[in-house]
Amino acid sequence: MRKLIKGIFLNPKTDYSVEVLNNYCILINNGIIEKIEKDIEINEIQFDVFYDFEDKIIIPGLIDLHTHIPQFRAIGIGKGELLEWLNDYIFPLEAKFSEKNFAVDSTELFFKDLISKGTTTAVMYSSPQKQACEIAFEIADELSVRSFIGLPLMDRNTPDMIIQNTEQVIKDIFSIADKWHKRNKCEFVLSPRFALSCSDELLRRVGEIAASDGFFVQTHLAESKKELQEVKLQFPEVENYTSVYDKYNLLTSRTILAHCIYLNEAEIEKIRDRNCIIAHCPTSNKFLRSGIMQAKKYIDCGLKVGLGTDVAAGYSLSMLNEGMEACEVSKLLSVQNDEPNIVIEADTAFCLSTIKAAEYLGISEEVGNFEIGKKFDAAVFELAEVHKSAELKEEEYLRALMYNIDKRTAKSVFIDGNLVYHK
Ligand SMILES: [Zn+2]
Repeated sequence: MRKLIKGIFLNPKTDYSVEVLNNYCILINNGIIEKIEKDIEINEIQFDVFYDFEDKIIIPGLIDLHTHIPQFRAIGIGKGELLEWLNDYIFPLEAKFSEKNFAVDSTELFFKDLISKGTTTAVMYSSPQKQACEIAFEIADELSVRSFIGLPLMDRNTPDMIIQNTEQVIKDIFSIADKWHKRNKCEFVLSPRFALSCSDELLRRVGEIAASDGFFVQTHLAESKKELQEVKLQFPEVENYTSVYDKYNLLTSRTILAHCIYLNEAEIEKIRDRNCIIAHCPTSNKFLRSGIMQAKKYIDCGLKVGLGTDVAAGYSLSMLNEGMEACEVSKLLSVQNDEPNIVIEADTAFCLSTIKAAEYLGISEEVGNFEIGKKFDAAVFELAEVHKSAELKEEEYLRALMYNIDKRTAKSVFIDGNLVYHK
């Protein structure tokens, strides 16, 4: 099946630039990009279906490096800082996922919203029950989302309703991974929720599994000041929070660390040495009053930084929104610290949520931008009326798209060249 797609393509590059392909056509053959050409003569091309998106903006499918499936129902309604918010709103909600119908309905709602926002690849936590994690994989697979999903591990400092037994959860890891790891577009991710929720024994075992089986690892690091104080109390023998994970060999080039707001120079150095990935979640960090991560500083010193919506502390699954927030909080940090060079520009934020994230996940030969030979994962968005009628300069298209907060929902979304969503 050959499909011809026409519109204004924004094509992110590995050097953080964005190419504007205005009035271009992309020809896809069985989901793979075969041609990218301007002013193509439609009559001279053989195709089965033609999608003429006219003045709409077409971007590569967005990549969310950190979010939580079960928390989708709690968007916006909680309050307080991290530890109290988890106890008051999130743990009781995740406990409800032991009920199968609730888990299925909630998970479907999450994935449908995710796709409608143009996200085609995501790294996620399920609810902590084995069944909830399996349901997440089943629905992700059914909807064709490129999915990296982990069962959050929590065998201490956790309410009885969701606490896990160490031995049992290790068995659950293998059972879920046996069924779902590298099946179709799914990968299993080892997911110690955060240091405070895991016993030394659990962290040790997970570190061993990561080393022997090569899974991605995801966890939270240095998100809030109170969390840092607690980590100091619970792990008095280690010099800092990052060292807790390092002690158990959990810091590798396939480890995704969410937040990383409060890191000292030694920790930054360690994360760079271990080549870990950082998921910057600016919306969540505002919502929980956690702080502002120094994203530009990390990027400039060679750390691998991507973006995550961190729903439900983040209050939208839109990665365009997250990109905009990354820019906006960097401006606040810049003016507050009187450092003009730490502002994140829109093109950088866009690359972080597309091609750079694809590189970190090892899938950039398949997706992440528009190149011949890659799969066609893409989302089509409409510009605001006021911008449609304006004569935009090429470099203005991306900001017109990213700051169009009234139109976060895509018109159409493609995965592997298949139209999976259309409004
Ligand atoms: Zn999170």
